[in-house]
Amino acid sequence: MSQPAATTGAAAVSEARQWERLMAMAAIGAIPGAIRGGGVNRACLTRLDRDARRVLIGWAGEIGATVTVDSAGNLWLRREGADPGAAPVLTGSHMDTQPNGGRFDGIYGVIAGLEALTALHLAGITTRRPIEVVAWTNEEGGRFAPGCMGSMAWSGCKPLAAFAEVTDPDGIRFADALAEHLAAEVDISPRPLGHVPHAYVEAHIEQGPILENGGKDIGVVSGIQGSRWFTVTLTGETAHAGTTPLAARRDAVQDMVRAIAALNALMHDPDDVLRFTVGRIVVEPNTSNSVADKASFTIDFRHPDKAVLLARGDAIEDVVRAAVRDAGVVVTETFHALPVEFHPMVVGAVEEAAGALGLSHMRLPSGAFHDAQFVVPVCPTGMIFVPCRKGISHNPAEYSEPGQLAAGTRVLTEVLLRLANE
Ligand SMILES: [Zn+2]
Repeated sequence: MSQPAATTGAAAVSEARQWERLMAMAAIGAIPGAIRGGGVNRACLTRLDRDARRVLIGWAGEIGATVTVDSAGNLWLRREGADPGAAPVLTGSHMDTQPNGGRFDGIYGVIAGLEALTALHLAGITTRRPIEVVAWTNEEGGRFAPGCMGSMAWSGCKPLAAFAEVTDPDGIRFADALAEHLAAEVDISPRPLGHVPHAYVEAHIEQGPILENGGKDIGVVSGIQGSRWFTVTLTGETAHAGTTPLAARRDAVQDMVRAIAALNALMHDPDDVLRFTVGRIVVEPNTSNSVADKASFTIDFRHPDKAVLLARGDAIEDVVRAAVRDAGVVVTETFHALPVEFHPMVVGAVEEAAGALGLSHMRLPSGAFHDAQFVVPVCPTGMIFVPCRKGISHNPAEYSEPGQLAAGTRVLTEVLLRLANE
C-alpha cells in the first residue's frame, strides 16, 4: 500500500495495484488448464463468489470504507463524504462470470471503483457527496437466467420475488441460493433495497473491437442497445427414419430449418446494425435415425432503435407460424430490455475527464447489456469503456492491457470526483 504522494485523485491511481487485484480475483474460480491463461468460472451466489467478495471487503477495509449488503445480495462499499446526507455518487459492476469467462468482464468495474476510492483516500481528498461502489448480483445470467437480477430488483424494474422460482442447471431455486448466500454474509450490515443516487457511472471492458480498431483509449458510452430473447419450441411427431415416408412426417427439425430461414429474412438488415442470433438448439430424441418430435431454439435479438426492436420482435411468432409446415409452435419471450440513452451530465463528464487526462476517446453505444441499463430510470447514468484485445470477451482469451485498464480508472476517478463535488 506504499504509494508515492499524489496530489490529485487520478494521479494516485496505481496501475500495478489494480492489476494485482484483478489477477488475485482471476485466481478465484480460475479454470484449470485454460490454455490462454485466463479462464475464470465464478458463478453468482456460489462459494467462489463469496470468496471473491470477502477479498474485496478486506481491501475496502484498508481504506475505511463501510460494507453493506441488500436483500438481493448486492454488495455495497461506501466512502463517506463531507455531507453524509447528500445523495451518493455510485459506481461498480458485477463479480460473476460466464461459465467459460475471462478475467475482466464485470470485475474490472468493481476493482476500478475500489481503486478510485483508494486513490482518493491516498491523495487525502474528501468529496462532498459519499461515493459508493456496488457489486451487483447475477449480471451474467449464466447460472440463473436472465442476468441483471440484482440491478433490476434494486431499481424496481422487477420485484425480487419475480426471480424466486428460477432454477439453475442443478435445479437449485434462485430464492434458495440467495438465502444461503445471505446467511453466509449475516455478519455484514444489511441495507434496504433501492435508493436514489446522484449519478451512476460504470467502467467496463468494451467487449467489442471498435476502440482497438479506432486506436482509442476510452469509450464514452452513449447508451445501450435493446435486447429481446425468445425460446421457440416446435413439436412434431417422432418416427422411424427408414420406414416413414417424408410426406407422412411431422418433422420438428425440418420445421425449425424453415422457421430460422424465415427469421433470417425478417431480421435482414443491409446496414448490419441489427443483431440476430440463434445460439442454442435442443432436439429430441436427438438420435440419428429418428425423426425429431421436438426442436427448440433460442433467439437473441438486439437493436439500438426501440421501434425496430418492438416491430420485428413482435413479428417473430407470426413469422415462425407462417414458416412451419406441421409442427406445433410455442414462442416464449424470456427477456426484454428496451434501448437506453445515457444522461448528458454523465456522458459529458466522461468525455471531459478523458480529454483532461490527454486520453484519446470516442462516443459509442454498447452492444452488450449491462447493469447500467437498469439504473437509467433511477438516476443520471453513464459508462466508461476500455479497449479489449480483438474485442474478445466471455472467453478465457479476454484481455486488456494493465495500462488501458488504469487509464479507464483514472477517467472514472476524475468523473467520480467531479460528480461527488456537485
Ligand atoms: Zn459485464
